[in-house]
Amino acid sequence: MYNAFSMVNAIGGPQRKEKTEIPLSAMVKKFANGRQMDNGFMRPGRAPGSRGKQKENGMNGYDRQTGNACDMNANAGSDVLTAVAATAGLAGLIKFNLHILERCNYACRYCFAKFGCRKVLGLDVWKKIVLNCHRYAPDCCFNIAGGEPLMVSWLGDLIRFCRELGHRVSVITNGALATEKWIRDNVPLLDTFGISLDSFDENTLKAIGRNTRSGRFLDGKQVAGIMEKVERANPACGIKVNTVVCSLNCHELMSGDIRSLPVSRWKIFKMLPFDNGCFSNADLAVTDEAYGRYIERNLGMSWTGENGNSISVSLGERCRAVVESNLRGGYLMIDAKGHLVDDTRNTSYTSVVDCVNEELSDGIGRLGFDPELYRSRYVA
Ligand code: SF4
Repeated sequence: MYNAFSMVNAIGGPQRKEKTEIPLSAMVKKFANGRQMDNGFMRPGRAPGSRGKQKENGMNGYDRQTGNACDMNANAGSDVLTAVAATAGLAGLIKFNLHILERCNYACRYCFAKFGCRKVLGLDVWKKIVLNCHRYAPDCCFNIAGGEPLMVSWLGDLIRFCRELGHRVSVITNGALATEKWIRDNVPLLDTFGISLDSFDENTLKAIGRNTRSGRFLDGKQVAGIMEKVERANPACGIKVNTVVCSLNCHELMSGDIRSLPVSRWKIFKMLPFDNGCFSNADLAVTDEAYGRYIERNLGMSWTGENGNSISVSLGERCRAVVESNLRGGYLMIDAKGHLVDDTRNTSYTSVVDCVNEELSDGIGRLGFDPELYRSRYVA
């Protein structure tokens, strides 16, 4: 695990230098040179010739005030993430996960969306946070999560705001509130519609707590119906399924059902142990062996814990399944208080930047972060 300064070394050291291809100044220009899409929004594009220019002058960053190229290694303490993006040579690699509320209409027993904040910040505050991220990384993208983000009435406005700034947006939901109207109004603006789905078995869903207070849950047929509407609303929108493997579903086979759905990406997470003193999911922890058996049963490949994180394999013709055994240090989370949080220090979250009142670039150097893990998650 790294702190900001070791990160700079890790990504700026000689062993990675040859990979630094996209100048960060190009990311800014990309935004300015973005292509207009059918729906009137701007999609970030590449600045022609910028790669060559960067190689000529040996610069690998940009000055935020002037927009001129500069040597990031000279003062890169707060620019570690943009450096990761540049090093990996991918545009839009920086993804901020906006957990806009803690509340949820489900009660999954393992849920680690515990931020100690029952209050929901307003739309204006989240716009401020988005602008803060935009200033820090003009080419970033946003994933909007919760709690359950569809419980918030202004979610569509926030999505639209991100799009108007030129950012790609995805949403992850449990699907219970994904009405036909919501899908029609919002999915045309999304790059990816993510749905969390831990099982197709009613008993397992109930044991996990994947249901409303009145006992309502989504069965396979309803999930298929939602995905069909998403496809119809925006055929270009990817459909992602997130599955968290815990001790209650680790014996199941889901791949056949996933294959029959129009899913483009199936992320299979190993449940993250979480304990903040008030809540612990330790009783649902899954061992490496049980997780490995789940992967073998569903994907026909062996996973031992030593063959890494974010291994991606194809599942049928249109779906990639991704084994995500670890997220700690590889996930940029802004919690329901609007704070960028570090999940590497303990089994809970530590605030490192108050994104409402503090400039992200001033504090992001305090983030515990694993660039190798991050790269494996987003470059895979
Ligand atoms: S659906 Fe997601 S946010 Fe809601 S309780 Fe379950 S894990 Fe937590």
